[in-house]
Amino acid sequence: AKRQGGNGVGVFTEDMNEKGKRRTIIEMNLRTSIDDEHLTLEYQPEIDLRTGTILGVEALVRWNRSPLGVLQPGEFVEVAEATNLAGELGEWVVTRACTQLAEWKRKIPDLRITMSVNVSPVQLVSMDFDATVRSVLHRHGLVGSELCLEITENVVVGDLQRTKDTLRRLERLGVWVAIDDFGTGYSSLGHLKALPVDTLKIDKGFVQNLEHSEEDRVIVDSIVGLASSFGLQVVAEGVETVGTVKQLLDLGCTRAQGFLLSRPTTPDRLRWMLQAGS
Ligand code: C2E
Ligand code: CA
Ligand code: CA
Ligand code: CA
Repeated sequence: AKRQGGNGVGVFTEDMNEKGKRRTIIEMNLRTSIDDEHLTLEYQPEIDLRTGTILGVEALVRWNRSPLGVLQPGEFVEVAEATNLAGELGEWVVTRACTQLAEWKRKIPDLRITMSVNVSPVQLVSMDFDATVRSVLHRHGLVGSELCLEITENVVVGDLQRTKDTLRRLERLGVWVAIDDFGTGYSSLGHLKALPVDTLKIDKGFVQNLEHSEEDRVIVDSIVGLASSFGLQVVAEGVETVGTVKQLLDLGCTRAQGFLLSRPTTPDRLRWMLQAGS
């Protein structure tokens, strides 16, 4: 578009101010809210579509009683990343998630699931992230293969060498690495080769409409093929209908997550689901 008129520019500026104000409020309050009192995790299962078995859960952060009411995690995670809070937030999340898994395992002794945690790009290149992960696992008697880190493709736009080093150290612990929102980012296929990736998580944008979009079917089909030729696992997110489940099974994708299967839920409700399935 060409230059906007005076009105357009005015609205645009006000918008920026509104956004800036929200960010400032978030930043000021998040700083003192990274603790068990203000933050909680919800857990969304990852299911084997053939059997209904819960293979793992993804931890998703929630800010209770935030100063701005209900906030999407995307919004305050972005602020954390833009300030110096990403490390602290990420450390809280991975610690809470591992503590939860250890708690479930005490109640369900034969439990075998992986805990997936979203990791910010900033966090991944922070000096001691892998040390943090190692000590959290150790503290709870967990092994690396019980943890999966979900990173976005954009992570590798940053410091590739450092990202690679950190991921390799984590890989040596047995930790799994998944590329989140696969298909939407800026990474090249070369990065896939360069990084110790185990799983591609197909973005929900390609999954939600699978029944009705031939293009989405072609995309999902190619990602499944790509994963198989690289020896990677594939997970679909955003499964909302039974028709989508059928399509995914047809395309050879057996592992999925979505509102149809379960919404993100509390630790207690998830424990019931795990117990019912064991
Ligand atoms: P994501 O990692 O792609 O997480 C999946 C998001 O999709 C979650 O939203 C989940 O509630 C939602 N979802 C799951 N199934 C369905 C479905 O069938 N349909 C639709 N429409 N949505 C579905 P949520 O919890 O609001 O999280 C949004 C984003 O915020 C996450 O996207 C992730 O990028 C970020 N995030 C959440 N928790 C954390 C965290 O602890 N750390 C970091 N760094 N980022 C986080
Ligand atoms: Ca994720
Ligand atoms: Ca996603
Ligand atoms: Ca690996």
